[in-house]
Amino acid sequence: MPDIPHINPAPTAPVTTDASLQHLYVHIPFCHKICPYCSFYKHTPGNTDMAAFVEALATELETRASQFTLAPKTIYFGGGTPSLLSRTHLSRLFERMHDILDLSALQEWTFEANPRTFTPEKLQLMRDAGVSRVSLGVQSWRPEQLKVLGRDHSPDEARTAYEQLRAADFPTVNVDLMFAHPGQALEHWRDDLEQTIALAPDHISTYNLTYEEDTEFFDKFSKGEFHQDADDDAPFFELMVERLGAAGFDNYEISNHARPGHRSQHNAAYWAGADFLGIGPGAVSTIGRTRWTNLPDTAKFIESMQFRRAAETDIEPLSESAWIMERVALELRTDTGLALTRLSNLEGADQRVDAMLEAGHVTQKGQSLVLTRSGKLLADEVAAYLLG
Ligand code: SF4
Repeated sequence: MPDIPHINPAPTAPVTTDASLQHLYVHIPFCHKICPYCSFYKHTPGNTDMAAFVEALATELETRASQFTLAPKTIYFGGGTPSLLSRTHLSRLFERMHDILDLSALQEWTFEANPRTFTPEKLQLMRDAGVSRVSLGVQSWRPEQLKVLGRDHSPDEARTAYEQLRAADFPTVNVDLMFAHPGQALEHWRDDLEQTIALAPDHISTYNLTYEEDTEFFDKFSKGEFHQDADDDAPFFELMVERLGAAGFDNYEISNHARPGHRSQHNAAYWAGADFLGIGPGAVSTIGRTRWTNLPDTAKFIESMQFRRAAETDIEPLSESAWIMERVALELRTDTGLALTRLSNLEGADQRVDAMLEAGHVTQKGQSLVLTRSGKLLADEVAAYLLG
């Protein structure tokens, strides 16, 4: 008998009124090479039995399908590197998903992909299954910066990958970029933006590098080898907003820019606090203010699915204050803004809102607060201040 970790019983969470889950996240934790800044749950495939992993994902879906109506409007395959799965395993997973899920209402199916992990044949398989949006991890177009970031692809390989995505005719293609990384000058960032704009993607995500605990970059940061200063990062942010705005991209969330009709529906639902089902090792679910996290260990996840058909490590009710904190932090980052009603039970909130309005960090749009350009540079601080 394998060593089975303690598993809580399957959740009996309250669900949405029609008991239908509309947003599904699937975590694929494998990467060929581990980037030194990355804090997600991921690892190299090693000797993982991929067929068993795919079956474990399907088993989890079956378990949840017996508890909820799974009729997703959005599906998001994140990781890790979902595009690393072979055609054989993807094909089997898609087949099982089509059997288990009601996909009649599906509007968006996103796949995160890295250069060097797919072929035209694999892309065709994804297209045929219903994938409509691919997010390509480019990060930089400069070989020197890719080396610093520990990426395993060259600029040419990223360009070829982008062209393959276009040839496969995905309705939306996103390019992921990072800025303010060690050794990156403002002119390098300008060049990354220009090269990306020239490709004409539908969506661009731009992440300000942060030094997360338990990463190689964090160790170097702690030793003083790397530095971060919000004032130094501000020109990168300003340049990005200005240049992408002029190129026709709508900065609808601090790190996200879309051409009309290409906003991420999955992410928008997450920011708005919709219920989410997460499948796979380390995946988080939030349903009816109850949250659980799957075992962040692929081998144990597979074992648990084989023997218990569940893999959540803990189930906890989200307190009202935790819920409000999340809503404020996430909604404030969007161009829809933070609904003022979120603050209505917080003592002294009116005065704090007035202070932020006066400082010019937010403006009022109907019954919501929206960050101004200066506010976007201080989003976390503004959120913390409004919460009191
Ligand atoms: S490829 Fe993505 S998920 Fe994998 S280590 Fe790099 S940043 Fe993390």
